[in-house]
Amino acid sequence: MDQERSRPFRSFADYRWEGVAHLPYKEDATTPFKTVTRQVLFHEPDMGCELRYFEVAADGYSTLERHEHAHAVLILRGSGTALVGDEVRAVDTNDLVAIAPWAWHQFRATKGEPLGFLCMVNALRDKPQLPTAADLESLCANPDIAAFLGRAR
Ligand code: MN
Repeated sequence: MDQERSRPFRSFADYRWEGVAHLPYKEDATTPFKTVTRQVLFHEPDMGCELRYFEVAADGYSTLERHEHAHAVLILRGSGTALVGDEVRAVDTNDLVAIAPWAWHQFRATKGEPLGFLCMVNALRDKPQLPTAADLESLCANPDIAAFLGRAR
């Protein structure tokens, strides 16, 4: 535990938190995403969880992925569109999004503004899987998902 994070109080300004590094979304540059930043607000091994803040810039998107671990998301800034499982929905500030194990998910900042969200997750978790060509084909059988992914035919 670093010293900054063990401080009881850290202030907020402009969607940054005192003592929290402002990081690129994922270290692996081969993962497909666009203009996303990540801040780890709490990393609590004793509680078994982490709370992160991700921000997708206007027109950006998070990685389309799935994994065994779940996510509990609260939209903190702006609005956009999210895919969870086989459902595409508009999301707005303060909405909650529950991502179940193995549900495909992606967040897109489709409304011309940033989309920022808090994401609670297990501290110990499996690595995300990316869709294969066959997975994408299967997802895009749903016209809402095809349009969401920009693959409408
Ligand atoms: Mn995920």
